[in-house]
Amino acid sequence: MKHESKKEPSNLTFSEELRQKMLGETINLCYQCGTCASSCPVAKLDPRFNPREVIKLALLGEREEVLSSEAIWLCCSCFNCDERCPQRVAIALAIYALRNIAFKEGHIPKIYSEFASALSNDGRIVKISKFVEKKRPTLGLPSLKPTGVEALRKILSTTAFEKLQQKEGEK
Ligand code: SF4
Ligand code: SF4
Repeated sequence: MKHESKKEPSNLTFSEELRQKMLGETINLCYQCGTCASSCPVAKLDPRFNPREVIKLALLGEREEVLSSEAIWLCCSCFNCDERCPQRVAIALAIYALRNIAFKEGHIPKIYSEFASALSNDGRIVKISKFVEKKRPTLGLPSLKPTGVEALRKILSTTAFEKLQQKEGEK
């Protein structure tokens, strides 16, 4: 069944909703100078990402466009933008907040849901390849033992994480 992403019932503007998620910080001070974009290592390498653009769309209330875009998942949290923003906009925090809302509403990039499944199934987000298994002894490294996942599953089941995974599985 295709999961329909839903807006949280709210009368708030999107930037106010974000401010609440950002521990009181606001993006409203942004005057679109572009310093964040010119300081961003990801934007230099990947044309899909531009922090100034993300902030602009959020300020314009383009909720669905921002939350469903892959751009918000590309930030590497280096905080260069925060260091340089003349308006002291907490840009990286805004991107965390956007990801949290997006995740909650079912906008989860496939790679992250695969990591999450691997984590709860195997205790590792990356499967150990046969190549690595063979290579380790030749480097004097012990073979990797299976990881116990019981404790991890308990944590996942007592948090919203598991429910979010189930929601993702319904897509
Ligand atoms: S550096 Fe700050 S003020 Fe300038 S565009 Fe980025 S967020 Fe807005
Ligand atoms: S924290 Fe994110 S948006 Fe800011 S400069 Fe680093 S990668 Fe770019």
